[in-house]
Amino acid sequence: MKRFAVLQLSGCSGCEMALLNAEEWIQEFDLAYMALVMSAYHVPEVEVLLVTGGVRTEEDLYRLRRAVRRAEEVIAVGTCAISGGIANLGDRPEVREVFLAREKRIHLPHLLPKCRPIDTVVKVDRYLPGCPPTPELYMALLRKASDFKAATSVCQECGRKKPKDKRPAQLLGFQQGEVLPDVCLVNQGYLCIGTSTRGGCRALCTIPGYPCVGCRGPSNAFIEKESEVWFTSVHRVFAHMTDIPEDEIEAALRSPQLSLFLFQFADYAGAGQVPRHKDQVV
Ligand code: SF4
Ligand code: SF4
Repeated sequence: MKRFAVLQLSGCSGCEMALLNAEEWIQEFDLAYMALVMSAYHVPEVEVLLVTGGVRTEEDLYRLRRAVRRAEEVIAVGTCAISGGIANLGDRPEVREVFLAREKRIHLPHLLPKCRPIDTVVKVDRYLPGCPPTPELYMALLRKASDFKAATSVCQECGRKKPKDKRPAQLLGFQQGEVLPDVCLVNQGYLCIGTSTRGGCRALCTIPGYPCVGCRGPSNAFIEKESEVWFTSVHRVFAHMTDIPEDEIEAALRSPQLSLFLFQFADYAGAGQVPRHKDQVV
């Protein structure tokens, strides 16, 4: 039975919870370490090390370097490990102020100057994007399933139709109005970025009517590109399918709702790492 461990750095535990939801691995793999469910501090020797969370503190850095020495394969799991994710918010001045103020920082781990994706510190063999990845994606990753191939984009899995004569003139809020079944959410005025988001999630949000916010990360067409290429592409999609003014789209694309997605671009995260290769991504 293959032994694997989960090292949790700065994140929210959502990736661990999603793994626990994928019960099938219990019969096939031996979980040697996961802080959420086992009380041990150090990661033992394993064949596969899944790392969740970004490198935000000195403690993250120490634990990551130590753990990878004991693993044959290292996999970055989730937005935080891949690009810093929510831990990037620690770069905001008001958050840094709380963590760095001398009188308040007792018992808090020391923050690094910047949040870093794990591949800026150690060599990563594979990546599993998602915030969090679905149980199905975890199983495909652990099994190295050759029959699993993520759809090119969320649109492919969504299947909503894109009627040419339905061109909204303004953007609707995320949860406004009645959502028509079967019609693309962009044609209904919602900011859905499924066109440029990696598939594999089975369009869990868009099928019932919630616009895609890109938690699976950029599709292969964008994964090795700068965020500006993505901005241009989304504008092109909206210009083609709607009459919504460009500045309205631009403001919405840079809103907090999409910040997790944007952090997945190396330049937006500000980490300056080399873009990862698409053939390493599940
Ligand atoms: S990737 Fe998402 S679910 Fe996973 S630790 Fe980060 S914020 Fe939580
Ligand atoms: S609703 Fe979103 S994911 Fe579905 S087809 Fe339209 S753009 Fe693509």
